[in-house]
Amino acid sequence: MIKEIWEKIEVEVSFVESYINQCKKENKRLFMSSSFQTHSIPMLHIISNIDNTIPVIFLDTGFHFPETIVYRNIIQKELELNILTVKSDVAKIDLMRDDGKFLFSCDPDLCCRINKVNTLEKIRRDYDVWITGVRADQNNKRKDLKYIGSTSDGTERFHPMINWTDKMVNAYIHKTKLPSHPLERYGYTSIGCAPCTTKPTHDQRSGRWAGSQKTECGLHSNVIS
Ligand code: SF4
Repeated sequence: MIKEIWEKIEVEVSFVESYINQCKKENKRLFMSSSFQTHSIPMLHIISNIDNTIPVIFLDTGFHFPETIVYRNIIQKELELNILTVKSDVAKIDLMRDDGKFLFSCDPDLCCRINKVNTLEKIRRDYDVWITGVRADQNNKRKDLKYIGSTSDGTERFHPMINWTDKMVNAYIHKTKLPSHPLERYGYTSIGCAPCTTKPTHDQRSGRWAGSQKTECGLHSNVIS
């Protein structure tokens, strides 16, 4: 079983290598985005082995768990990543309405748009290819994603983890002895901003914006129906 998993991993790794090397031959400017969760670490490791100068964008919303920031720093040091931490131009105080409510509690779509979508859109303009860690098995909405897509403004999207499974992630982490996100040991399976993250009830992402209809932050909306 482990042998089969590793055969699958090797196929995926070799595809990523050839894709990135081809992009580099074509002088395409690449960046990767990461929210620094355990399941995205294998790809950070694989890409850092190919070229650790490729920028890794971390969108700092100001609402992350302190454990996520610590974990990001550990991974940065271990993989010698070129992490760019990027924040919204909108001040945190302006994310609070006149009635004293933060947007995440009353209009999370707007909060995500300001903190994540708009912030990344500005960065994206400087690159040709955006590498993301989305996986098809994370929820029903992601199941039809393909390796390659594009954003509304034409930036190429590369989804190298689209066929990865939990077993593959666990096997990779185990073999490379890379650390896991500290909150996983408490039962969290998808970890975003603290006000919008709880432990899951069913699928991996069910702890995100739990109790609301919202399932995505908007970064992947144009490729997810
Ligand atoms: S996940 Fe929550 S706190 Fe973070 S940007 Fe979205 S709504 Fe705001």
